[in-house]
Amino acid sequence: NNELRIELRLMAYGTDQILLLARDVSKIFRLEEMRRDFVANVSHELKTPLTVVRGYVEMVQSTENVLDPQWSKAFSTIESQVTRMDRLVQQLLVLSRVEIQADEEDKQSVNIPKLLNGLLEDAHWLNQDKQHQITADIDESLNLNGIESELKSAFSNLIANAIAYTPANGKIEISWKQVDAKAKFSVKDNGAGIGPEDLHRLTERFFRVDKSRSRDTGGSGLGLAIVKHVLNHHNAKLSINSQLGEGSEFVIFFELKPQQLCN
Ligand code: ADP
Repeated sequence: NNELRIELRLMAYGTDQILLLARDVSKIFRLEEMRRDFVANVSHELKTPLTVVRGYVEMVQSTENVLDPQWSKAFSTIESQVTRMDRLVQQLLVLSRVEIQADEEDKQSVNIPKLLNGLLEDAHWLNQDKQHQITADIDESLNLNGIESELKSAFSNLIANAIAYTPANGKIEISWKQVDAKAKFSVKDNGAGIGPEDLHRLTERFFRVDKSRSRDTGGSGLGLAIVKHVLNHHNAKLSINSQLGEGSEFVIFFELKPQQLCN
């Protein structure tokens, strides 16, 4: 814990000199670590009380109990707020896991088509109220070396966002294919879109474009921060093309290893 951490920067100085800057970042690093641990511990501790509250709410709402309309409304509000908190706690736990450096040994060949087909089934449930037309074009033979749980979080966040930020009966296109030496994942929607002034802030923790709109969708503002960390672990790049009111396309490019470049 008392390790010394030095940040080194090599810069061109004038035309024929190089400047080497060394900065002691040990304290910043330790504070970051404390913040991460604190968030992870609090989130973990919140899980049990939330489960208990949910259990009692479900018990009261069970079919044997006929509630006064006023109480029924109160309990359904408690239930939806508990669901929101539950999601926030889960996202905080995922974020504190992916914020730490990835262990290369955790990486293995991941069957991405299988993973995506599973996520498409889950999307079916998320899409029940929206009735979007969701299409997928998946290269069934294209796998990737990576951390399966992290990749699943990244893809599912992008799919869930496309569903949430597109008004009912929209169009969502998901694709997974090889483009030159890269694997490309993309989710395209014809929804709300994002203005150019907000694009660069999207992956910040708790950033939401329109707070009231995002609150209605149950958003936490953590999804794209998770995506950013996962992509760092996989040496991948995110590119976002979006037009306010027209729709968005979130694209991830993964470098393929030479042995994966067979087709
Ligand atoms: P949230 O949990 O609020 O969805 P995210 O980090 O996943 O958090 O996204 C941050 C914000 O970016 C969202 O609140 C939303 O305003 C905007 N956003 C993300 N995806 C889309 C999308 N496909 N279309 C429009 N806006 C989006």
